[in-house]
Amino acid sequence: NQEKTALFTIFGGTGDLAKRKLYPSLYRLYKKGFLKEHFAVIGTARREWTNDYYREIVMETIKDLADSTEEATKFASHFYYQAHNVTDTEHYSELKELSTKLDEKYQLENNRIYYLAMSPNFFGTITEHLKAEELITNDGFNRLIIEKPFGHDYESAAILNDQIRASFHENQIYRIDHYLGKEMIQNISAVRFANAIFESMWNNRYIDNIQITLSESIGVEERGGYYETSGALRDMVQNHILQVVSLLAMEPPIELKDEEIREEKIKALRSVRIFKPEEVRHYFVRGQYGASTVHDEKSLGYREEQNVDPASQTETFVAGKVMIDNFRWAGVPFYIRTGKKLREKGTQINIQFKGMPLNLFSEDHTTPQEPNVLTIYIQPTEGFSLQLNSKKIGQGLETELLNLKHKNSAETSANSPEAYEKLILDCLNGDSTNFTHWDEVAQSWKFVDVIRQAWNKETPEFPNYPSGSMGPVCSDQLLEKDGFKWFWNP
Ligand code: NAD
Repeated sequence: NQEKTALFTIFGGTGDLAKRKLYPSLYRLYKKGFLKEHFAVIGTARREWTNDYYREIVMETIKDLADSTEEATKFASHFYYQAHNVTDTEHYSELKELSTKLDEKYQLENNRIYYLAMSPNFFGTITEHLKAEELITNDGFNRLIIEKPFGHDYESAAILNDQIRASFHENQIYRIDHYLGKEMIQNISAVRFANAIFESMWNNRYIDNIQITLSESIGVEERGGYYETSGALRDMVQNHILQVVSLLAMEPPIELKDEEIREEKIKALRSVRIFKPEEVRHYFVRGQYGASTVHDEKSLGYREEQNVDPASQTETFVAGKVMIDNFRWAGVPFYIRTGKKLREKGTQINIQFKGMPLNLFSEDHTTPQEPNVLTIYIQPTEGFSLQLNSKKIGQGLETELLNLKHKNSAETSANSPEAYEKLILDCLNGDSTNFTHWDEVAQSWKFVDVIRQAWNKETPEFPNYPSGSMGPVCSDQLLEKDGFKWFWNP
């Protein structure tokens, strides 16, 4: 593997994300030879840590991955820690000094990746200082990776974007949506553009509806404080789900290159119908989990969780019908749902094809046959299944359903690169395919804002689904009124 050269500066270097995802991902890249001698990492946060202590922490985060202590120690020796508050200007001159020093020591060619793994409140301050204090180099590359959430509505996102763009060009900004780093999300393009049987049918003539389900079995756990300010609509729909919608709906790009794909995704997102306030109730429903007893164990309701308002109106479940008003998709509903404390755990996409014009296998010829459904399993197990009708063995002409299924083995899934690993490597390669462009973020917020605003005007009857169910009744009704039902393909 070709070695990459860069200095990583991780803001929020003592945080949860850094420890759980970033350090292990950097280590995997190291083991695979993408990072060798010519890289260094500066971790920065408020706590006073020494380099030695920092390296111990880094080694702790990779202890299950490292083959030997020597290897881990060698890797960790590239890590440097600097304590400071990001709002303090002095911090940046010290950072600059350290950066220059490391640049020389490791011959980093002035390549810099700034990773903002901390609260978005600080994104603007940090980027402003990086420019003002001249941490952005003139030669070499300078790239900025930022975490979600990107704003909490269109307006705040636009302000944040302006702040960041005052220091970095759009093509230097890598907005993380870790869903885009997942193997099977990237596989959507392969399913569509490498298989004539699907691409030829990938339109409103042959597809009845598409369903995207992101189902979590856990509750908010200790993230109650954050979740109260977000809710499922902002936390999942604005980013992950609309990204998946755009990948499923986009036109074939001229090439599988970042700019080409992005252009098609943006076009798809621009075709997503933005509802009028009074239409929202017909297209979107929300829910919040209540307490229940599952297998003799009491499961808390959302309002009883830590750091959650006992009268909270925050939704932990959303289901909706997204319409895409273009030639390919006019009339085809994209049903989406996501929620916490649901019965199932996993993400899958179900594409339901249209039925036969006539059912020769039923006496009256009109009872519809079961539809063909293509399932794309995203997580935890990756794979596909195709639901087909076949003749039931024996006398008569009855049909039965069969599933052609391919699921990656647990081993293959375990060996597939972790989302963050892929995304960091993409960034090192200057490939922004799997990051979100501002135009996508902006369009997604415009779609979500109308729903949020309509919901804010009404008091929901929460809780409305028990923990361990598949969400509120209104979610099933949303499809029933169109003559469909939710698929969950185990
Ligand atoms: P965290 O609270 O664990 O870490 C925050 C870090 O910022 C700490 O290192 C803290 O010391 C530092 N910090 C806070 N204020 C500072 C200041 N004024 N000056 C210098 N340093 C300061 O947060 P996290 O869970 O690691 O999340 C970081 C970002 O990643 C957030 O934007 C979050 O939304 C996003 N994110 C996290 C996860 C996750 O799994 N943890 C997943 C997706 C997105």
